[in-house]
Amino acid sequence: MDTPILDNHLHLDPVNGRGAEAAKEFADAGGTHLLVLNKPSWYLVESVDSVDAFRETFELTCEVTEKATEQLDGRAWPVLGVHPALISQLVDSGYTPEEARDFMQEGLDIAAEFVSDGPALAIKSGRPHYEVSNAVWETSNEVMRHAFELGAETGCAVQLHTEGGDDFETVAEWAESRGLPQEQVVKHYSDGPIAGPIASIISHKDSLTAAAESGEPFLMETDFLDDPDRPGAVLGSKTVPKRVRWLLENGHEQAVETAHVETPARVYGIDTEQTLDS
Ligand SMILES: [Zn+2]
Repeated sequence: MDTPILDNHLHLDPVNGRGAEAAKEFADAGGTHLLVLNKPSWYLVESVDSVDAFRETFELTCEVTEKATEQLDGRAWPVLGVHPALISQLVDSGYTPEEARDFMQEGLDIAAEFVSDGPALAIKSGRPHYEVSNAVWETSNEVMRHAFELGAETGCAVQLHTEGGDDFETVAEWAESRGLPQEQVVKHYSDGPIAGPIASIISHKDSLTAAAESGEPFLMETDFLDDPDRPGAVLGSKTVPKRVRWLLENGHEQAVETAHVETPARVYGIDTEQTLDS
């Protein structure tokens, strides 16, 4: 295949998992570019109640992303942020929702520093995908809106982890009203076209077919976890290249161009063709 192939959301765990080895597997299958998300801070470092945990997690992720780049014809970029489920852990350990919000917003401030200082491409935020109290829901929305402010100030995209569904227009409006264009908001783990942000489609065939037929911009991802304790919990690291081949065999050349060249340029300002070195 002579097209760039980008997995828009995968994790590489340099502490417990295979790290850059998983990137090599992706490359061997034909993949060229990766956006590497930090694992939730509580997986990589022991203490989650100091903002240093975020800095340490982000540094580990930047290091493994550099090693991943060495395995690729294209390159990898880190996407750094704070997992929305952290709020529940903090509240369970005695934080008020407001204290948890402030702490998570500080984590996002640090993520944004990694973007403005160079190594990271985008930030990640969102809100819990499971039932929470009103107070936790409200403060989670405040955390997410803070991420939009940071994205607007820093000039970077924001990836979101949220509940399922296909209508995120209100969320996109929150971004727009803070100066972040809605096409720089990406909803990770989408299972088809959505209203509002750009959909990052989890690479199941039916979800990809719906996205390809919509004619809308979209991205492809696996949410590979690189977690030896949960093999097969999500898609494997070779899935995006395999599904690209399958899309091409089924006449979806334009969708492949959309997901691997046009949408990455539009959302993140990256050129996946120029950054291919072979
Ligand atoms: Zn993920």
